[in-house]
Amino acid sequence: MAEDWVFAPPERPSIAVEGSSARFPVRRVFCVGRNYAEHAREMGGDPGREPPFVFMKPPDAAFDAALGVPYPPDTVDLHHEIELVVALGQGGVDVAPTRALDLVFGYAAGVDLTRRDQQARAKAAGRPWDWAKGFDRSAPMSPIRPVARTGHPATGRIRLSVNGAVRQDGDLAAMIWSVPELIAFVSRSMELRPGDLVMTGTPAGVGPLMRGDRVEGGIEGVGDLHFAVT
Ligand code: MN
Repeated sequence: MAEDWVFAPPERPSIAVEGSSARFPVRRVFCVGRNYAEHAREMGGDPGREPPFVFMKPPDAAFDAALGVPYPPDTVDLHHEIELVVALGQGGVDVAPTRALDLVFGYAAGVDLTRRDQQARAKAAGRPWDWAKGFDRSAPMSPIRPVARTGHPATGRIRLSVNGAVRQDGDLAAMIWSVPELIAFVSRSMELRPGDLVMTGTPAGVGPLMRGDRVEGGIEGVGDLHFAVT
């Protein structure tokens, strides 16, 4: 019956966990903007060390990249942004940077897919970015690799290629705000909960994706992702 869904426990979107049959249930997706100086410049910004800014994608944005990425509706300028994804296994409020890494369950490589044309129109009109950033399947990810295997990566190559051509090639060490600083920052405004993901910003080289493109990306020590745009 149509009413049954009201009483059924909601199915949480989830991401594969490397080396396990368990899946990581996604609660929320926090995304950090302009956290690499070269990317801030390519987007027309000034990469001073001003406070980070955060936007959100709904949980339904997150999915296993291996499933393939459908080209989304309502855009002719879909962009890729490869990012380190932090998966939280514990929550907290007002978390000190020195304790922030205790919350981390693991890390993944993810892509903050962006309808850049919509984002440009929203920026020009002073409107929210949600429609440009938070569409269905806008955050394909590699399997989450637990901390026991990754440690807490603060350096390492982060790269993305399209049809074999390198588009983005940076290093986690170039992040303006570190992972513990970002966790602490978010936890001062929102109560973090298990299942929350933090996408930590992208290095320079963002660019368009077309139907049929083959995307290959990864982060040293964290994981790789491959998908086709269908
Ligand atoms: Mn991004």
